[in-house]
Amino acid sequence: MIIIQKLWSAKIQFLKGVGPANAAKLAKLGVFTVGQLLEHYPRRYEDRSNHKLIAELTDGLYETFRAVVINVGELKSHRGLKIVKITVRDQSGMAQLTWFNQSYIKNKYKTGMELIISGKVQRRMHAIEINKPDIELAADFNADSGQIIPVYPATDDIPQWQLRALTRQAVELFQTSAAPEVESLPPDIISGHNLMNRQQALATIHFPKNMETLAKARRRLVFEELYLLQCGLAYLKQKNKFKSRGIKHAPDGQLVTKIEDTLPFSLTGDQNQTLREIKADMEDTTPMQRLVQGDVGSGKTVVAAIALAKTVENGYQGAMMAPTEILAEQHYHTLAKLLAPHGIRLAILTGKLTRKARDQILRHIKEGGIDVVVGTHALIQDDVEFKHLGLVVTDEQHRFGVRQRALLEAKGEQPDVLVMTATPIPRTMALTVYGDLDISIIRELPPGRQPIATYSRGSERRSKVYAFAVDQIKSGRQVYIVCPLVEESEKVEAQSAVKIYEELSSTFFKNYHCGLLHGKMKSPEKDAVMAAFSGGEIKALIATTVIEVGVNVPNATVMIIEGADRFGLAQLHQLRGRVGRGEHKSYCVLLSDSTNEETIERLRVMTEINDGFILAEKDLILRGPGQFFGTVQHGMPDLKIADIIRDTDVLLEARRAAQQTVCTPEYLNRVWQTLLNWFGEKFTMVFCR
Ligand code: ADP
Ligand code: MG
Repeated sequence: MIIIQKLWSAKIQFLKGVGPANAAKLAKLGVFTVGQLLEHYPRRYEDRSNHKLIAELTDGLYETFRAVVINVGELKSHRGLKIVKITVRDQSGMAQLTWFNQSYIKNKYKTGMELIISGKVQRRMHAIEINKPDIELAADFNADSGQIIPVYPATDDIPQWQLRALTRQAVELFQTSAAPEVESLPPDIISGHNLMNRQQALATIHFPKNMETLAKARRRLVFEELYLLQCGLAYLKQKNKFKSRGIKHAPDGQLVTKIEDTLPFSLTGDQNQTLREIKADMEDTTPMQRLVQGDVGSGKTVVAAIALAKTVENGYQGAMMAPTEILAEQHYHTLAKLLAPHGIRLAILTGKLTRKARDQILRHIKEGGIDVVVGTHALIQDDVEFKHLGLVVTDEQHRFGVRQRALLEAKGEQPDVLVMTATPIPRTMALTVYGDLDISIIRELPPGRQPIATYSRGSERRSKVYAFAVDQIKSGRQVYIVCPLVEESEKVEAQSAVKIYEELSSTFFKNYHCGLLHGKMKSPEKDAVMAAFSGGEIKALIATTVIEVGVNVPNATVMIIEGADRFGLAQLHQLRGRVGRGEHKSYCVLLSDSTNEETIERLRVMTEINDGFILAEKDLILRGPGQFFGTVQHGMPDLKIADIIRDTDVLLEARRAAQQTVCTPEYLNRVWQTLLNWFGEKFTMVFCR
C-alpha cells in the first residue's frame, strides 16, 4: 500500500494510462502530480439524472442527451469545407451532429455506439443540429459513477472522459492508501464547523452522489482553503505583535499640534478617524502595519504628512515610497509645503539624480541630516541607509510587491508601516489580500467636491467632444486626453500617443499649446511637460496611462479617454480622478465604439457612479476577482476553489476560526507545514531576516 503523502506528491505518470504524451497534455493544465490532479476541481457538473429526450431539446440552450449512432458520413460543402455529420437517435427522434474540417472525428464513432452528447441546440424546421458537441461514450461511465458528472477545465487535446477516468483512478488510490494523516485540519475545527473529512470531500467533489453531498464537500474544501489563508495572515499579524518591541512614539507634542493647527483646511471626519488609528498604533510598542484605503482625492497625503511629522517629532526619520517619479515628486512638493515651514528637512531620491547629488543625499540620510525622504524604488537600493528609520509609508501599494515593502521596512528596526492605496477594494477582498494589515478607510471626500459629470460616447461624436474641450480651454481650464491602452507594449502605446498628439495638435487644438507624455520619454522631458501642464502653459495634455496615478492639477477639468473600452473600471476611475480636484465643475468623456454588451455596461456604470468603493464592488461582480489577484502583487497563494464573492459567509467563519487557531499551539502545529508550503516566500521573507 502506498503512503498518502507519497501519493499526493507522486508524478502524474504514476497513474496507469499516463505516459510522456499524456503527461505533457496534463502539464498544460498545470497538473504535474497526483495531488494537483485531485485539486484540479470540476468547473461545473452535468446532472445526468435528468437527461432530456431529443424531442424535448430547446433551441439555443446547452443541453445533454443520450442517443445511439445510426449513421456516420462526410460531405464537402460547395466552398470546399469538409463536414462530418453523425446522425443519432433515441426513442423520441433524431439529431445531427456536425464538425467542420475535422475529418478524424468520423473514425472515432461507429454505428451502434451509445453516446452522451452535450452542446448548443439548433432547431431548424424539423431538424435538430448540434455543432461541435462534447461527446462521451456511454460505456465510459461505470455503473457506479453516479448521475452527476464533473466537467473539468480542459484543453482541446485531452478529452473530458480521460480526465474523469484519471481522476477516478487517483481518487480510488487516495481512498485506499495508508493514511496516517490525511486530515489537514485540527479535529476540533472539523467538528466545530460541521465539516466533511478531507478524504471524503475530495472524493465527493469529483464524483458526487447527489447535489446535497456535493454542496457539503465544496463547503469543506472552500473552508479549508480560506481557513488556511486566514491562518497564514493571522499568524503574520500576530507574529508582528510578538516580535521584538517596535518604536513607541510619544503622544502628540508641539510640532504635530502646530502642523495640524496650521493646515489650510479642516480635516474630514474620516481623515480624523484614520489619524487617530494611526497615532494609536504609533504610540504602541507593536509595530504598526496599517493600510489606508481612500479614493482618489480623499486626502491621504495630508494624513501621511502628519504621521511623518510625528515620527520626526520623536527623533526618527520617515520614508515615503511612490511607484513613479512623477508621483514621488508631487508628494515631495505636497509634503514640503506642509512640513518644511516647521523646520522638517526633506529630500527626494529618484533614479535620475546625478551621482554626486545622490551620494550627498545618501550621506545626509545616513547621518540623520534629513528627516523625511520621498522616493521611488531608488529608496530600497542596498546603499540607502538610515540613521534611525521610524515610519515607512508606501503609496499606491498595488504597484509594489510585498517584497519591496519588506525591503524598505528592513532599513529600520521594526519601523511603523503605513500602506496607502487609492484602489478601493471591497471588504471581503481586503480580508483576503491584506488580511495581515489593519485597515483604515477614508470614504468621505473633502467638502465641496462636485461629482464629475461622466459621459460615454461613440466616435461619431468625437468632434463635438473635442469642441467642448476647446470651450473649456477658452474659459481658462485645461484638458487631459488619454490614449488607448496597449498592454503588451509600451512602445506601441507610445507610438499611438504620438499619432494622436500629431492629429489633435494640428486640428482641434491647433490654436493651443499641447503637450505629450508617454512612458518611452526620458525623465527630464516628462518633468518638463508635467511642469508646463501644472504651470498652465500647456492647455491640452495628450498622455498614456503614465498619468493614471496621483497627478494633481486642480485647474484641469476635462478628461477625455480614447478607446475607453480597453480599460477596466478601476483604471477608468483612477484616470477620472485626475479631474475634479479644484473648484471648477469637471467632466469625463469615455470614447468607445465597442458593441460588446459587457463593455457597454461597464462604461454605463462609470457614467452613473462616482464612488470608487461602489465601483470596485461592481468591478468584482462584472469581471470577477481574478483581475484583482492578477494586478495586485500581494504575494498570496492562489485560490483554487473558493470564490470570495460567492463564499463570503464561509470566509468570515473561516477567519474567526483562524484567529483562534493561531493562539492554539496544537492547532497551529497541525497546519504549520501546509502554511509553509503555501505561503512560501512570504513567510520566510518576512520573518527570517
Ligand atoms: P489622495 O492622495 O487621497 O488622492 P490628496 O491627499 O492628494 O488625495 O488630496 C487631494 C486634494 O484635496 C489636495 O489638493 C488636498 O490639499 C486636498 N484636501 C485634502 N484634505 C482636505 C480637506 N479635509 N479639506 C479640503 N481639502 C482637502
Ligand atoms: Mg494620492
